[in-house]
Order: sequence, then C-alpha cells, then structure tokens
Amino acid sequence: MPITGIYGPDDFTNRPQAQTARTHVMPARTGAALPMPSLEWTPEVEQATAHLYERVKHVIPPIEWPLMAPTIKAINELKRARNAVILAHNYQTPEIFHCVADIGGDSLQLAVEATKVKADIIVQCGVHFMAETSKLLNPDKTVLIPDQRAGCSLAASITGADVRLLREKFPGVPVVAYVNTSAEVKAEVDICCTSSNAVQVVESLNAPSVIFLPDRYLASYVASKTDVKIIAWKGACEVHERFTGDELRSLREADPSVQIIAHPECPPDVLAEADFTGSTAHMINWVRAKRPKRLVMITECSMADNVHAELPDVEMLRPCNLCPHMKRITLANILESLLTLGEEVTIEPELAVRARRSVERMINLKN
Ligand code: SF4
Repeated sequence: MPITGIYGPDDFTNRPQAQTARTHVMPARTGAALPMPSLEWTPEVEQATAHLYERVKHVIPPIEWPLMAPTIKAINELKRARNAVILAHNYQTPEIFHCVADIGGDSLQLAVEATKVKADIIVQCGVHFMAETSKLLNPDKTVLIPDQRAGCSLAASITGADVRLLREKFPGVPVVAYVNTSAEVKAEVDICCTSSNAVQVVESLNAPSVIFLPDRYLASYVASKTDVKIIAWKGACEVHERFTGDELRSLREADPSVQIIAHPECPPDVLAEADFTGSTAHMINWVRAKRPKRLVMITECSMADNVHAELPDVEMLRPCNLCPHMKRITLANILESLLTLGEEVTIEPELAVRARRSVERMINLKN
C-alpha cells in the first residue's frame, strides 16, 4: 500500500534550529605518528602485490597499478603493525575494497562483522554514520575514519529532535531508523534496519503503524511489501534519487536483453522498471546466482566495478552515479589514518548506550 503520511522539517513549526553534536571526531593523537614509508614502485613492491593485482586486473588498467601498489603494500604492513582491521562498504573503489579491506559488505554485514573484530583499531572505509555504528558496537576499540567529511544526505536529513517531534505527533507508534542515520537519531528510535532487512524489522514490531525514517523511497518500497501502515520522513539519498524511470526504459529499448537491478533507495518509477530490487548484498548475491550477460546496476558506480572484478564475465553497462561522500576515502588518507591514528570517532557514553540498543535489537532479530 502507499505510505500513509510523509513529514519533514517544514512540518514542525517548533523544530529547534541549533543542534548539539553528541559525537566527535578527534584529530590525530600527539606522539602516535609513525614515519611515512617509502612509496616507490620497485620490483619488490611489484612482486609483493602481484596477487592483489590479480583481483582487480579487470577494472584497474596496468598503467595505474604502479601508482597504487606502493600505498597498498604500506597500508597492509601498517595494519599488522597497528593490529588494525579495515572495514569497507561495497561503494568503496576496487583498490580499497579488494586490496586493503579485511571485511567488505553492506551496512548490515559491516555492522555484524564489526561485533566480531579482535583487532585494537578499526579503520572504517565508508561514511561517518558507519564509523559511528562500528564505535557503538566496539566501544573499547579505536575507530578511525580517514576523512571526517564523509557524510551522507540521508543521515543529514534528520536530527534526534525531529524524532522526538514525530513521537509527540504519533504517540505510541514505534520508530524504525535506517542505519543511515546519526548516533543521535539511533538513540531516539526503537530499532534500526538496513535495506536488507527493512521489511522484516518493520513486521517484527507487530504494530499496525510504524514511523520509518529517514528515506522516503525506502519507506515507500517497504510499504509496498507489507500491510503495516508506514509513516515516512522526507529524506533521500542524493545518489539514488537521481536515477529516473525514463533512463531505464531507454536502456531497455537499446538492448532488450539487458538485466537491470536497482537499490530500494531509488524512486518508485525506477524500481517499477527493474528486474530485481535489493540491498547491495542482495544485488551481489543475485548477480552471482544469475550471471547475466549484460547488466545495469542502478546504484553507486564502485559497486559495479567491485562486482565486475569478481565476475569479469558479466558485462556492466552504465549508468551509475558516484557518491561524493564515499569517494572522500582514498588509499592516501587510509595510509595517513594508520600512520597518525586520526581521525578518531567518539560518542558520548549516555548517547552511545541508547543508540547501541537500537542497533543490537536489529542484529539480534531472528532470521
Ligand atoms: S550513497 Fe547515498 S545513502 Fe550511501 S552514503 Fe552516499 S548519500 Fe548516503
């Protein structure tokens, strides 16, 4: 059914203007820095990274590898020296995702794997809310984000105060937050979800109505899959909302054999044209199982590169859109982060307790 109502900042005249940051990004620790290693392309570097190039040779031209390999080798050595692990989202570029990451996946996979990490340091190659989630689940570990400016249009669309206003307007209605929210918002809601488990989480609440925030399009997708009445927020992913149904129809007209798969953060007219809709993890599983000859992945560009690196027989067609926030993470700033132990993500303890509860409720849901 269509969503029951949709609200945004303009619908609340009493919305507070100023927000207080409850999470922080700390600069590098004084005295913690290690010296910069050599970043020369040498026969030794070529030999030490040859097995990594095998993983990305279908998406990174040989001419570019000598520019990346010395930094990749340095990062992998520093990870051991620092007892660190690198978590990378599916939207990270192939040299990060396939060559330096220890764990890769979507938000749910990263959140779950973050709870099993034994290392002292987690370097989050993703955006800020993902680093916060890793910190929530690993309060005693050092969590670093290589560029603190890596934000998210969805996380920026709503505050903890907005959730309190929604609760006042709809007393007793449970609130589900997509993990693409700040820790401050997670602290105000009943449970989190990802695009992999959103319908399951909504139905787990056994309520006739649920407030689902902040992505209006994911809310609309969930509403189409359940009888629960969905009250939504007016947030959107700036990457996925740019796709249009017309674009997909033109692709199909040009090649009727092409398969199109789309992320549920896309608008409904886009999803209506897709052969399959699913989270990044579900999309990857679909491609592994179906092995289409020609494929369009309606999501962030690096995802198609990462899948093509793994499955070179699947021809990837554009379009795709880049996420400027994800692209702030580079080999250079991952190296810098490991050398200096900056930027460290911290969360106020009282806020962290409440936000962690919402994430853990999601993780602990039975499949
Ligand atoms: S792709 Fe969209 S949802 Fe993901 S980090 Fe970028 S802006 Fe946020």
